[in-house]
Amino acid sequence: MAAEPHRDDYRGRQCHRHPDMKEPAETLSPTFAADCMLGTLAKWLRILGYDAFYRRRIEDGELVELARAEGRVLLTRDRRLTERRRARPFVLIVSERPAEQIHQMIAEIGLELREERLLTRCLPCNAPTEEIAPEEAYGTVPTYVFETQSRFRRCRSCRRIYWGATHKDRILETIRGLFPADPRTFPDGAPRQDSAIIGARDPE
Ligand SMILES: [Zn+2]
Repeated sequence: MAAEPHRDDYRGRQCHRHPDMKEPAETLSPTFAADCMLGTLAKWLRILGYDAFYRRRIEDGELVELARAEGRVLLTRDRRLTERRRARPFVLIVSERPAEQIHQMIAEIGLELREERLLTRCLPCNAPTEEIAPEEAYGTVPTYVFETQSRFRRCRSCRRIYWGATHKDRILETIRGLFPADPRTFPDGAPRQDSAIIGARDPE
């Protein structure tokens, strides 16, 4: 499954696109494995609903093999890592700024904003969350939260509970600013990076 070297138009950098990967206009759900330098990007991907593996400490070789074994697109800022023969497919992330990283992901692999997928993964552990009945959240979330919120989600892995339509609106607003109407035209200036805040309660 060899990826052909591909001259992408993003700042003229070379990247390798997986042969099965469609052009950005297509609907697709790639999964990712982010290197140690891309924790914030991984968090944004999870907010968007993408499956994004990330560990603060992991050996390069282990990351490459994990990505390969699980069919994940390797995301890295380390050019040397991309020179490994088994590191395919990959995206060599150019910028150190998360907003620009998102822009590159939109341009190169067609990252999508789908409201129904927003906040459907646990931010710390990347597992899917599922909607639960409010009664199931009772006693686990603060009383005022239980009284003021009507919808709750729970991580299937760590059992952390999420809520917060208000926060979701704020996140959506921020993310909309990152996704330009025309994916090939990026907004000027620095997109806001300050409001990735959602209510979350760790399991007792
Ligand atoms: Zn979790």
